Amino acid sequence: MTAGRIRKWLRPAVADMAAYKVADASGMVKLDAMENPYGLPLELRAAWADRLQQISVNRYPDPAATDLKRALREQLDLPTESGLILGNGSDEIIQMLAIALGGEDRAMMSLEPAFVMYQLIARMNGLRYISTDLQQDDFSIDLPATLKVIEAQQPAVVFVANPNNPTGNIHELDVLRKLAEAVPGLLVVDEAYEPFTDMTALPLLAEYEHVMVMRTVSKMGLAGLRLGYLLGHNAWIDQLEKVRLPYNINVLSQHATTFALEHLDIFEEQAMRIRADRQKVFAALQAMPALQVWHSEANFILFRAPQGQGTVLYEQLKQHRVLIKSLSGGHPYLEDCLRVTIGSGEENQQFLETLQHLLH
Ligand SMILES: *Cc1c(COP(=O)(O)O)cnc(C)c1O
Repeated sequence: MTAGRIRKWLRPAVADMAAYKVADASGMVKLDAMENPYGLPLELRAAWADRLQQISVNRYPDPAATDLKRALREQLDLPTESGLILGNGSDEIIQMLAIALGGEDRAMMSLEPAFVMYQLIARMNGLRYISTDLQQDDFSIDLPATLKVIEAQQPAVVFVANPNNPTGNIHELDVLRKLAEAVPGLLVVDEAYEPFTDMTALPLLAEYEHVMVMRTVSKMGLAGLRLGYLLGHNAWIDQLEKVRLPYNINVLSQHATTFALEHLDIFEEQAMRIRADRQKVFAALQAMPALQVWHSEANFILFRAPQGQGTVLYEQLKQHRVLIKSLSGGHPYLEDCLRVTIGSGEENQQFLETLQHLLH
């Protein structure tokens, strides 16, 4: 009975989907989700609790999130013609873009291997998902091939994560400019990993009214708050505001993020520590002759296990209570590839020692 009703009424696009799975991490050294390992320093916690105590949870949040947006504008030094819109994580912003620019004949595009949410959100919202491959050796953009697909398919939105997840590399501004020149709709540069690189596409906002930059507080150390934001020309932001649900950013996230931005130096210092540790983990992985390792500008490193060993190594690490991410079975360029998040010094050490032990 139920199965029959579901078959009759569930949208086929949803029926065809698999739910997004998150691995159980209880009791694990958790290096699978690009979380910051440090958390809020003890000396800040009292002030943080104090601030949250003043919140009226019986009232709806400020629908415009005025204080938080002001704090973000100041931090970013945004020009007046640029606006910003907030999402319950950048995932929700991708969804707002899908709703605002969607339709059966509309396509969302990204460059593979890519962040899986672009494809998932496109499909669940009834858009076509299209992609071109990055170059197999170094995951740089294959411009001629990419421009050809853009020309032929006329995507409504093109997403480029910079640094890219799951590969960790960056694309230079000149390449992004060439994409911007060709994209008929919007080009969204996803800077989720901005805390861990010097690269930013913010200068492009002044050059192109159809280029937007998306960021999040998730990777800088506030993944639990669910706050993402999109920067772009006010003319576009005003339209996107129409599809944002009025109270999408809850009152706790608004106040907690505003408070965190007042102490940005602490998060910046943590990011610097993670960048330094990334170099140590990179060197240690590179010293293991069985592995192929890619440079990363993000808080994770992509590496390849010997042929046919990727998922085995992942499972063995898990048995030793170290959880990373296995990428086999996704994009063909990532067979036997694994992605490890940079954790605390101790966590990285535990991961490296276990890996070393398993490879012997
Ligand atoms: C982690 C990540 C995000 C963050 O999404 P949130 O919903 O803000 O947590 C966005 N884009 C990419 C490429 C990511 O890897």
